[in-house]
Order: sequence, then C-alpha cells, then structure tokens
Amino acid sequence: MLHYVEFGLSHMEVPGEVALCIYISGCPNRCVNCHYQELQQVDVGELLATYFEQILDLYHDYTTCVCFMGEGDGSEESRTEMLSCVKSCNKRAYKTCLYSGRDTNIEDWMKAFDYVKVGSYREEFGPLTSETTNQRMWMKEADKYIDITERFWDKK
Ligand code: SF4
Repeated sequence: MLHYVEFGLSHMEVPGEVALCIYISGCPNRCVNCHYQELQQVDVGELLATYFEQILDLYHDYTTCVCFMGEGDGSEESRTEMLSCVKSCNKRAYKTCLYSGRDTNIEDWMKAFDYVKVGSYREEFGPLTSETTNQRMWMKEADKYIDITERFWDKK
C-alpha cells in the first residue's frame, strides 16, 4: 500500500501548473545526497488510499495538476494503486504528474500521466533547474511525450 509523508501546493514542480504535490514514501532508489531521505523509508506516513479523496477535496479549486512525488516501491501493487488515483484525478479533470527517481524511459504504465519526470538525482549534473541535469520532464501532447525540461532552466 502506498503511504505519503506530506502534501502541498507548488508552482515549481510542473511548468504552467499549480501542482498539488503528494510525497510518497518507500522510494527504493538510493541517490547519493538524496534531498528527502524520509521518502526512502518503507510504510512511513499515512495510507494514501485512506485520505486521497479527502486531499483532493481539500484542494478543490486550488490545483490544476496532482503530482505524485515518488512511485513507492515500484511493485505491481503500487502501480495499480497509483493508477487508480490517476483515474480519480481524471474524473475531476485534474492533470497528473509522476516524479520518478529512476533512470528509465517512459514505461507503458506511466502513459496514464500527463507529465512524467524521470532520472535519479546526481549531484554532479544537478537538479531539473540545472542546464546540465540528467533528469528529464516529459509532457504528453496528443499521443506523444515532448521534452520540456528546459522550462525549468529559467527558474533557478
Ligand atoms: S528518487 Fe528522490 S527520494 Fe528517492 S533516493 Fe533519489 S532523491 Fe531520494
């Protein structure tokens, strides 16, 4: 089961959107100098399934995009649960974003999201706001994803 540590609004995480960011624990990646080590702990925080609809209710009219910061342990169960949350967002006409910390291309299951950020945090390349970053932010447009990473570069 997915757990979250905190949630809140941000104008920084998804270009052009007011993102409701939900920080998911259980991250199996082990980025050196991880910016949020609590997210590496398993089953820390509240059960997402219990509170997700209430969180959406709370931010009704304030957010345009629900942003999942992390994808849990990467198990099939976690993905199924997250995709169920995406369906709830779609019913409310919110866009959705996934922040994956893995070095991967967009996987089939990720194609439910309007935005997908991929890539581990590597200090030598910097975060998304660095022009040398190894991370990428993709935005769905029609049936394709386009790379919008450079939209972060004027936000340093
Ligand atoms: S993906 Fe994010 S939370 Fe996970 S180890 Fe890397 S920096 Fe930390």
